Amino acid sequence: MNILNRNVVQRNLCLGCGTCQAICPQKAITMELDDCQGVFLPKIDDNSCNNCDLCWEICPGAIADYDTLNSVLWGGVPGNYRIGHYLAGYKAHALNDVLRYNCSSGGMVTALLSYAFANNHIDGALVTGMSKEKPWLSESYIARNIDEVVNASGSKYCLSPTNIALREILDKEGRYAVVGLPCHIHAIRKAQLKFPKLKKRIKLLFGLFCASGRSVNGLKTLMGGLNIPLESVMSLKYRGNGWPGKLEIFTSDGEKVLADLENYYPVMCLQNPHRCSLCHDKSAELADLSFGDLWLPEERKNAGAGKSICIVRTEEAARLFDAATRDGIVSQTALDEKELLRAVQPDNKKRLISARMAFCRAIRYKGGATPEIKATLDDYTLSDFIKALKYYGVQFLCERRLTRSLYLRSRKKYRRIPFEK
Ligand SMILES: Cc1cc2nc3c(=O)[nH]c(=O)nc-3n(C[C@H](O)[C@H](O)[C@H](O)COP(=O)(O)OP(=O)(O)OC[C@H]3O[C@@H](n4cnc5c(N)ncnc54)[C@H](O)[C@@H]3O)c2cc1C
Ligand code: SF4
Ligand code: SF4
Repeated sequence: MNILNRNVVQRNLCLGCGTCQAICPQKAITMELDDCQGVFLPKIDDNSCNNCDLCWEICPGAIADYDTLNSVLWGGVPGNYRIGHYLAGYKAHALNDVLRYNCSSGGMVTALLSYAFANNHIDGALVTGMSKEKPWLSESYIARNIDEVVNASGSKYCLSPTNIALREILDKEGRYAVVGLPCHIHAIRKAQLKFPKLKKRIKLLFGLFCASGRSVNGLKTLMGGLNIPLESVMSLKYRGNGWPGKLEIFTSDGEKVLADLENYYPVMCLQNPHRCSLCHDKSAELADLSFGDLWLPEERKNAGAGKSICIVRTEEAARLFDAATRDGIVSQTALDEKELLRAVQPDNKKRLISARMAFCRAIRYKGGATPEIKATLDDYTLSDFIKALKYYGVQFLCERRLTRSLYLRSRKKYRRIPFEK
């Protein structure tokens, strides 16, 4: 059996990033949606695979050696391991009000990518939009102009094999930006060590914060609770229409369904992919520039106009950020380290993950396999261990459909409005 299959997929450590499909020289790997787990997993054609092991070497699933990658990228471990290496932190938003309203938080990703295109800094940007054929699933592509960037705005709360589109970057000369979750960025940093073309061609890595990825099963549970067959979905948007934004679904039955983030989001978190539950990187520590929602209590009062937290980690990113500010594309206010930390880690992912790793090993949950994390984590307490027990208890029950309908019934706060097709 291929080493990737044995060490990652079979041990429930695949996070579905899609990098292995993009880099396989034999084209022996295809990402396919696993209906049971609700995540995309690599299917490896043993007849085509020549066991070169490149897929294993770039895979972020089983080994997360952030100590080495930090040394390679910035010459040592970060000053503050909870934020990662950085030059400056800001709260910021796009100055184009329409764009800001339609994006997830402050519209910073879309505004900066559009600015990079307009000023000829890049020839393409790897982004994740929604599939035309299956509008409930995400789909990644290389945007070649501003319109294609704007079409991909908004967070897609499902695990996306975004890095499949790296194949086009390997095949076509050019200067690229990439937008991805921390796991996508981690995989790209590993791949850049093996593929000089990826290092040379990718000029900017934009990382999104991620407390946890969502499986397609989470979405199916939500749709099941709403009695909306997936086949009837004409369009689905998770965020946008102001901040913090609403889920908006149009169906072929002539219905528009709206739900607030705080109502639908917890339902989708009931069936998180297993590897996500053991992911220690919240703020895309290996990106050039990281973006998240500004979930500070004082900002939550200002629903409507979103702001992003932006962490500038490299000189290249700082140049783009400063030029966009100077040219009136974005507005920003600097945050000191204390404010930044308050915004980045309110949930302290690094402590939660320590507790979950200990829990999974102790009771051999999902076979007891855990990723090898070489990075500073926080010590956990007994209360964290109990939280881990509760977390996996709920995931276990929901996988078996025991609590989902109960949970859904108690949380039905959705608006359903007829619309003219
Ligand atoms: C799965 C997921 C989980 C997140 N969790 C958190 C969190 O816990 N805390 C927090 O503060 N922020 C989180 N974010 C980030 C947040 O939702 C916003 O994406 C971020 O603040 C940038 O906002 P924006 O308005 O600048 O983005 P926009 O201008 O709207 O652009 C969003 C960009 O994200 C890309 N994208 C969308 N979905 C995906 C995806 N699934 N995979 C890869 N790329 C994608 C698109 O290509 C688009 O370019 C999460 C995002 C995602 C996708
Ligand atoms: S490279 Fe990504 S998709 Fe492939 S096995 Fe590893 S984690 Fe899974
Ligand atoms: S929790 Fe980690 S592994 Fe899961 S989608 Fe987010 S960044 Fe990727």
